Amino acid sequence: MKLTDMRALLNQRDIQLTKSLGQNFLHDQHQLQRIVDAGEVTKLDKVLEIGPGLGPLTELLLERVGEVLAIEMDVRLVAVLRERFPQLNLLHADALAYIRREPRDWSDWKLVANLPYSVASPILVELAFAPQRPKQMTVTLQLEVAQRLMAQANDEDYGVLTLLVQLDYEPRGWFKIPADCFFPAPNVDSACVNLVRREKPLLPDALRPVFVRIVKRAFSQRRKMMLKLLKAEWAAEKLQQVFTELNISPMERAEKLSLEQFVALTTLLSEGAR
Ligand code: SAM
Repeated sequence: MKLTDMRALLNQRDIQLTKSLGQNFLHDQHQLQRIVDAGEVTKLDKVLEIGPGLGPLTELLLERVGEVLAIEMDVRLVAVLRERFPQLNLLHADALAYIRREPRDWSDWKLVANLPYSVASPILVELAFAPQRPKQMTVTLQLEVAQRLMAQANDEDYGVLTLLVQLDYEPRGWFKIPADCFFPAPNVDSACVNLVRREKPLLPDALRPVFVRIVKRAFSQRRKMMLKLLKAEWAAEKLQQVFTELNISPMERAEKLSLEQFVALTTLLSEGAR
């Protein structure tokens, strides 16, 4: 879908774009192709697309995959999409509310989407924490969020979002998408990241709430020693014992600990009493 086609469609229907819905449409064919290639999609795949907009990505997905489920919140765009792609399985809904309200088995689905930036992080966390989470998430979002998703311990961008998503997903690469590839050009940088579900979960389902509590508490004050912060929820004695067992300094800050160390902390702190 070229920029001229997008402009014509919007003009014909007198659609004024809504900034709060993150309506920046990707018109660059090369970048669209790169996203679909990163998603490694085949005719055997089922793909969830959140925020199809005018459908530039949808068009490519419908050619390449077995099934597409698209969720768009703007009724004006839903009308355009229904006309352009009568065969598309399309829901008119707030995708975040839909995912929360309708738990379903996403385990053999891939998410391939140019996400609405304002809700990109909660959507990713919600899907990553679904009991039957998607097997791959190839998403375009704000560069700053992409950097957090790709970060490793000691990186400036490493934090709660990194750990909540990387618990189940391995970041497999990313690329920047220049602002002038979108209409209208957003005033933030964008990137596409590729997250692939780990073959073997690092934690059993029952321990995931403990992992979330530890991570959130440990990063609640980034510059403070995490042992001190965790004392708000766990007994000092237990914490000291576990830190010693894992060879973690009691002075350490959360940003220094790897995902594997957070997983080990979760396992040991879940054993016995608080
Ligand atoms: N995929 C299209 C593209 O690449 O050109 C549009 C991407 S645009 C960044 C985000 C789209 O998400 C818009 O069409 C917007 O209306 C839609 N949207 C915003 N918030 C949404 C939500 N909560 N649920 C579903 N769609 C949403």
